[in-house]
Amino acid sequence: VSRFKMSVRSGSVSMAAAPMLTKLQQDCATPLPVLRNVAASMSDDIRAGLAVDGGSDLKMILSYVDSLPTGDEKGLFYALDLGGTNFRVLRVELGGKDKRVIAIESDQVSIPQELMSATSEELFDFIASALANFAHKDGNFPGKKGEIGFTFSFPVKQTSIDSGILIKWTKGFAVSGTAGKDVVACLNEAMDRKGIDMRVSALVNDTVATLAGARYWDDDVMVAVILGTGTNACYVERMDCIPKFQGEFSPSGRTIVNLEWGAFSKGLPLTVFDRDMDAASINPGEQIFEKTISGMYLGEIARRALLHMAEEGSLFGKSMPEKLSMPFVLGTPDLSTMQQDGTEDLHTVGSVLYNVAGVESNLSSRKIVLEVCDTVVKRAARLAGAGIVGILQKIEKDTKDAIFGKRTVVAMDGGLYERYPQYRRYLKEAVAELLGPETSQNIVIEHSKDGSGIGAALLAATNSKYGRNL
Ligand code: BGC
Ligand code: MG
Repeated sequence: VSRFKMSVRSGSVSMAAAPMLTKLQQDCATPLPVLRNVAASMSDDIRAGLAVDGGSDLKMILSYVDSLPTGDEKGLFYALDLGGTNFRVLRVELGGKDKRVIAIESDQVSIPQELMSATSEELFDFIASALANFAHKDGNFPGKKGEIGFTFSFPVKQTSIDSGILIKWTKGFAVSGTAGKDVVACLNEAMDRKGIDMRVSALVNDTVATLAGARYWDDDVMVAVILGTGTNACYVERMDCIPKFQGEFSPSGRTIVNLEWGAFSKGLPLTVFDRDMDAASINPGEQIFEKTISGMYLGEIARRALLHMAEEGSLFGKSMPEKLSMPFVLGTPDLSTMQQDGTEDLHTVGSVLYNVAGVESNLSSRKIVLEVCDTVVKRAARLAGAGIVGILQKIEKDTKDAIFGKRTVVAMDGGLYERYPQYRRYLKEAVAELLGPETSQNIVIEHSKDGSGIGAALLAATNSKYGRNL
């Protein structure tokens, strides 16, 4: 009798939550017309942002990178990479055309939580110390001034290739006193405090470093996209397509433009969970595309949906898992782990739910949980794909040398793209749906692992203040 009751209860569990799942799926749906509209809006916003500063949600930041790596770069260069989750220091030895990258060494630390809300001095002292430790480690402290490519993965208004002002923090950073300041000056001051004699030759966004790093190996790279904790994209634009650009044209007539597409907001299918998450965030109303498609937020969107289903639809029976009401307990990596579960009883899903959120589940509730993950991730990946197509269509339309008729590479990096197979698949599917079979054969979406580390070192080399550095 008790067994019977159990199964009746577990049956009714999913029945109460099922309509809620259907509602979520409807609200997150991304059929072709929705994707087409997002891609078109992305193109429009790109043009409007290139026309005048403040012309659209997209800042369209000029990178001051107007010559891309050729392969001839030589010398020993450092790279610093401050992203969303980790901080890395690299030393890269470049050997020119034949030898290319002779050696890379690197150190990585995850950024301590408390540093994300520290003072600007504390943050940059941390960076400078890590650099000092690394450079001293093998007695390899540069005798002459070492040159640094500084990858700083936040919106920066570049004032030259080696300076730029932080517009605002993103990705949960709330460091006080940096916004409005030149981040290279902040780093230089910290290096002075630590007695480090090195100079920043290039300040670059991670998308720009990724594009440069990928271009080093492949001349067909035109676009770079980061899908990690945060998200963004950049591409190679013709200077005569940038009305707001006032300076002298570079010899190549081209430059890399950083979209800051995390701030995009048009035509996105959003749910009550997205709106609530945004309202509770430290930057409400900002970075809406980023909050819909990037790694920092997908787990949280799913958690909010699951909590609602637990409270209003008894998804997990009568038990109300307390931990599930904690913001950000469920991470995007957890969603990915659950979605890779191939067992019949969804054993992995069960143990992730139990370990992470203290949730006791049965097979029918686990199935619903998986559907929720899939819904959130599918929407994210397809919208990211639409964004990419928006960039490609803009280039195709406005540039004489069309890109759709030949091999064109989009370099991808970031933990979300790298470690979530379903995300990758949905993204590529959406791009193919939008471009059609013929064109999409020419568009190569390629993972550029670690491109940004080498890319920053390469850009330090191209923009070296001391010439050849060997
Ligand atoms: C930042 C971008 C960065 C992206 C990926 C966003 O939050 O605004 O500058 O490129 O994250 O790291
Ligand atoms: Mg990164």
